[in-house]
Amino acid sequence: MNNVDIQAFENLLERADRILIISHVRPDGDAVGSLLGLGLILEEMGKEVNLVLEDGVPKVFHHLPAYDRVYREAAGVYDLVIVVDCSDIDRIGDVLDEYGEPDLNIDHHPTNTQFAGLNLVREDAVATVEIIYDLAVALSLPLNQEIAEALLTGLLTDSLGFRTSNTSPKALRIAADLQELGADLPHLYRKAMIEKSLEAVKYWGLGLSKIKLEDRLVWTSLSLEDRKNAHYPGRDDADLINLLASIKETDISLVFVEQKNGTVKVSWRARPGFDVSKTALEFGGGGHKPAAGAEIKGNLERVQEEVLKATRHALDGSK
Ligand code: AMP
Ligand code: MN
Ligand code: MN
Repeated sequence: MNNVDIQAFENLLERADRILIISHVRPDGDAVGSLLGLGLILEEMGKEVNLVLEDGVPKVFHHLPAYDRVYREAAGVYDLVIVVDCSDIDRIGDVLDEYGEPDLNIDHHPTNTQFAGLNLVREDAVATVEIIYDLAVALSLPLNQEIAEALLTGLLTDSLGFRTSNTSPKALRIAADLQELGADLPHLYRKAMIEKSLEAVKYWGLGLSKIKLEDRLVWTSLSLEDRKNAHYPGRDDADLINLLASIKETDISLVFVEQKNGTVKVSWRARPGFDVSKTALEFGGGGHKPAAGAEIKGNLERVQEEVLKATRHALDGSK
């Protein structure tokens, strides 16, 4: 990060007392970790901080500090509005409807639309928490065990436990620093990456029973009916996409999750050498070359058909 950006960030903080931090719907570990990590840093600095996620904090992150202080709606007046780990404004849901343009966006998606007053976007960062950690170190902001636990969770989840192709020596060094601050890496790894509820595994089972593989493309879907039958509480795929991506015979994997609002959440994963973010962008979504997503209007069958066609086209074009 260059000094101009660091200075601009410091200036924003200096003139702010009441700060709102938000992140994306269906929050993952980087969204939650960035929100809690930055929130706790700013609180240590004496700021009044409000943390908001439209979908709340998923149960898998209920071991993290301050998870129970995250609200689903913003209320009141803020001097500074910060959006973390989010590449476009639509992805935060309706939280900011009455607040206008956010002041600051901290993110690492190549598809970022630069929607805030100041956009600190670093594509080389493994996770948004890496950028937050760098800012904290550069400006000697407070760090402690709780902040380290939140930040390390973002690093672990976005790198799938340090196994994505962008896992860098720098990310590993930061993880070591966070461990030295008191974060229990094996514990956080187990809580965020290994443990699954029985409902989540049943939900997987329903998805897995419909799995299809055709010429290096693998996909499945999760309907509202599946969610109900498995008693799964979230509106995500319970990370089923990462299981599909582990299938040896594939280059690209997809999961389609039917939503109550007449849309379908699509997740893509690809092996190194492929770029699924472009196809996700075509459908109004975004992400990274090997991992992308979109929320698309339409019923499950039609969205599935259109997305598979476009993905097949992209896969054939990259051969
Ligand atoms: P997911 O499939 O939801 O785990 O997301 C994979 C990657 O794509 C993550 O980096 C997400 O932040 C990004 N992503 C997912 N959905 C969207 C969306 N609707 N718009 C932009 N980026 C997205
Ligand atoms: Mn995220
Ligand atoms: Mn992220």
